[in-house]
Amino acid sequence: MYIKKLKLTNFRNYERAELEFSPLTNIIYGNNAQGKTNILESVYLFAQGRSHRAKTDKELVRFGADFAGLEIEFCDSKREHNGKMQILKNGRKAVRINHVSISKLSQLMNYLNVVMFSPEDLNMVKGSPNIRRRFTDSAISQLYPAYLSSLMEYNKVLDQKNSLLRTNRRSINDVKKTLWIWNEQLAELAVKIMRARTDFTDSIATAAKAIQHDISGEVLDIRYVPNIRLEEYTKEAVYDYLNDRADREIDAVSSLYGIQRDDLDIQVEGRDAKLFASQGQQRTAALSMKIAQSEYINDIKGEYPILLLDDIMSELDISRRMYLSERIRDKQVLITSTDTDLAGKDTATRQFRIEKGTVTDVS
Ligand code: ATP
Ligand code: MG
Repeated sequence: MYIKKLKLTNFRNYERAELEFSPLTNIIYGNNAQGKTNILESVYLFAQGRSHRAKTDKELVRFGADFAGLEIEFCDSKREHNGKMQILKNGRKAVRINHVSISKLSQLMNYLNVVMFSPEDLNMVKGSPNIRRRFTDSAISQLYPAYLSSLMEYNKVLDQKNSLLRTNRRSINDVKKTLWIWNEQLAELAVKIMRARTDFTDSIATAAKAIQHDISGEVLDIRYVPNIRLEEYTKEAVYDYLNDRADREIDAVSSLYGIQRDDLDIQVEGRDAKLFASQGQQRTAALSMKIAQSEYINDIKGEYPILLLDDIMSELDISRRMYLSERIRDKQVLITSTDTDLAGKDTATRQFRIEKGTVTDVS
């Protein structure tokens, strides 16, 4: 899929802006704080229904304006779509796709898919396990809403279990009886979640390995590390596993076992990337995972998502840049950069210069 056109009114630092994109590479360049990331953010909004960085939607409305208006035209392999969004300064948002209003923002994922890569994504490799879980969960949820429901339900039950462990002053046998009830519900949901995480990780691990190898010649291994380790994930096995450890959880006054403690093991050249990989290797690994995610979306949906690459080229050496450009040459990609001299430009590439919220097409 690709975006043809984007129109912004009173969005962030844009009073008015209009961009017509190439279906292939688009370079959005300019100095710091001119509005490059704001463009990617506006596209991301149409795909995910929320900003990748704003805490509240209010921030998105241009200072002093009453509302922001966004319009997008995009195509998938079947047809053309258009989207409209209005964000009021109190943060209320209205979205229409193909002239029909969207009530649940998660519906947006049925239309436009993007994968964003920004400098903070380095934390997928470097940071704590919850960042890797968020990556996995959001990637799966984008395609399988039922996964998101299971996850939300799991967290609700886990909260109840934790409050039982924290506040209970009844006899240990009473506590255990209630614990078993929560554990049964958790086991059922955990199995679904673990199976989905296994499938997802297996699929992106293979793709990411190939991509990393292409970009840098390095060996990247990604492995799902479930907190509950079993030969096979069945509800009964997880239930027994949790119940067998009830005493330890009661002693600890909190839930010690479950999918809330899962992680991904990421290795570059056979060593834990968190500890031993260089900054550039970590960045390449995170990038390979994101590109693998876009291939995963393509495998499931039959549509390749749009890649939004925020300010990453400058952090890669020239050979990594060249390989990356080659790798994404036949996909639509929106790249921001503070310099114009990016590798892999060709005649299909469009370039936009951004200066204080004005866009000039300099292709
Ligand atoms: P960098 O190269 O540093 O990443 P950038 O070009 O990506 O910069 P953006 O993050 O897109 O910059 O835009 C930042 C600019 O937008 C800042 O100058 C900021 O003050 C301005 N800005 C952010 N929100 C609003 C708003 N609601 N109204 C007006 N201006 C805003
Ligand atoms: Mg930026």
